[in-house]
Amino acid sequence: MSDCIVTNEKDLRQLSIITTMEEAKELRLRQRLKSANKTAWTKGAGLTAIQIGVPLRFAWFSINGSDEILLNPEIVDVKGQHIFKNEGCLSIPESYIDTERYSYIEYISEGKLKKAMNFKAVLIQHEIDHMNGTLNIDRKL
Ligand SMILES: [Zn+2]
Repeated sequence: MSDCIVTNEKDLRQLSIITTMEEAKELRLRQRLKSANKTAWTKGAGLTAIQIGVPLRFAWFSINGSDEILLNPEIVDVKGQHIFKNEGCLSIPESYIDTERYSYIEYISEGKLKKAMNFKAVLIQHEIDHMNGTLNIDRKL
């Protein structure tokens, strides 16, 4: 059975805490997020652990058929502020809003420095926001 996707705003406002790969594996977070994603109100590209009720700094996402995770991610540099149209959230059904996001980010995840652009960069900013209890509605233009 799949985990339910949390839609209660109070629960989503929790601050997630640092985790380890061992803990994430033990809790099967990647698999659980992936299968919860299939139950979402719309086709989603990623989910953060808090969205299945686990307040740990872990997320799973899929872009162009490749699966990736975020483990204790931290943005270290940003470029190119731009307006992202129709940003959705699997925890906020039937809602698409315009937000202001960066089009390029450098971030650390799993202890490694990585880069992301465009949609992937926006997605990572969205998931990191979830880890801090921030929702896209907070960034509505
Ligand atoms: Zn979301």
